Amino acid sequence: MPDDKKKKLRIKPIKNGIVIDHIKQGKAPQVLRILGIDEKFGDAVTIAMNVPSKVLGKKDIVKVENRNIKTAEINKIALIAPNATINRIRDYRVVKKKKVVLPKKIIGMVECPNPRCITNKEREPVRTVFLVRHADPLILICKYCERQITL
Ligand SMILES: [Zn+2]
Repeated sequence: MPDDKKKKLRIKPIKNGIVIDHIKQGKAPQVLRILGIDEKFGDAVTIAMNVPSKVLGKKDIVKVENRNIKTAEINKIALIAPNATINRIRDYRVVKKKKVVLPKKIIGMVECPNPRCITNKEREPVRTVFLVRHADPLILICKYCERQITL
């Protein structure tokens, strides 16, 4: 069976919404959190975990009906799932397919764990800036205090 067909059997098509594929195994719940999807979300959400994947070994997939996705959310997903692809679905068709891109700099999304870092000073708050040293596992360096963190 061709790959395309297999994929379709596994993931029921949705009419409108987003499918986030190639999520690192076990990271689907975090992706939902990034999207702000909780029990109050009214539309259909499907999560597939530990799906066999040629590239990743095993992967997670998240499917959300009637939901769009913002660039800021895509960038956050890139932090935890650097291989994820975002598929926008309209009338059962993939109208746009995009791989997430891990930015070189992560601005204002991660807190610096160093209490003495300038970004943690209450009086003059500075947005955090982290430089990406390594993508997977993700290793970041604080631009201000050079503290290294692993996510
Ligand atoms: Zn710092």
